[in-house]
Amino acid sequence: MNALIEKAARDIVDAGRVVALTGAGISVESGIPPFRGKGGLWEKFDPMEVGHISALLRDPVKVWNALFLELGRKLKSAEPNAAHICLAGLERRGKLGTVITQNIDGLHQKAGSTDVIEFHGTFAWQRCMVCDIRVPSETLDLSRIPPRCDCGGVYRPDCVLFGERIPPGDLQRAEAVAARCDLLLVTGTSAVVQPAAMIPFVARDNGARVIEINTEQTPLTGRVSDYLIRGQAGKVLSAIVDALDRISEKAGYKR
Ligand code: NAD
Ligand code: ZN
Repeated sequence: MNALIEKAARDIVDAGRVVALTGAGISVESGIPPFRGKGGLWEKFDPMEVGHISALLRDPVKVWNALFLELGRKLKSAEPNAAHICLAGLERRGKLGTVITQNIDGLHQKAGSTDVIEFHGTFAWQRCMVCDIRVPSETLDLSRIPPRCDCGGVYRPDCVLFGERIPPGDLQRAEAVAARCDLLLVTGTSAVVQPAAMIPFVARDNGARVIEINTEQTPLTGRVSDYLIRGQAGKVLSAIVDALDRISEKAGYKR
């Protein structure tokens, strides 16, 4: 593991353009459970089913009670962890460009990252399903479920549910950024949800190095990624940033 940490730090120092792709695993140390893998979210039901647009259209009360209220509570109290802070720190050092995230928790921005593509939208805003008006989540009146807009329409989080399309602009920008990068840092994603799972392929097919940070192997491991650093995102990224600072100091680079 130590050799891989050093290698990753060196690869980041040597790369021109570094991009990060993050998933639910990066927020686990902030107390937000992922959907898959150990400790997966809400063992009582299948988020793929309850989080599907057809479920929301069929039974908004059920989806609000089972999923959105619970998710909202978890997200409200969540703070960025060492992994989000390290990525923001890499940006400050001029070593990381865009963060493409599948997460809807806003923790990259809260940690200080300024160039974030929220591929699956955000839970910070709600959208009326009839008139499309957007309001900040914290202003919602949750005394009645589902919460409703003045027009009578049901509010829903402004994120991409299963069965919905990624906003085309975000998809295009993410693909363009991935196609141009020299190194893609894939952190805390099982890389099975399409089309986000394509991003590592786009990077690799354009000659980028792909490094994975994950507690488990993924479908990318040994096939698309050059190497996997196995461990918790916060610990691994902290160690990489420490190693990168040592390398930079030795080389006389400015932080
Ligand atoms: P996922 O739930 O499919 O997989 C999470 C991955 O993170 C797994 O590969 C797991 O091994 C890994 N992991 C778990 N703990 C880790 C840790 N401490 N450090 C590093 N890796 C760790 O997540 P996904 O691939 O992002 O897809 C699920 C979808 O559900 C996402 O697209 C996202 O929109 C949504 N989601 C978002 C949040 C959030 O905003 N925080 C939380 C749950 C689900
Ligand atoms: Zn409305």
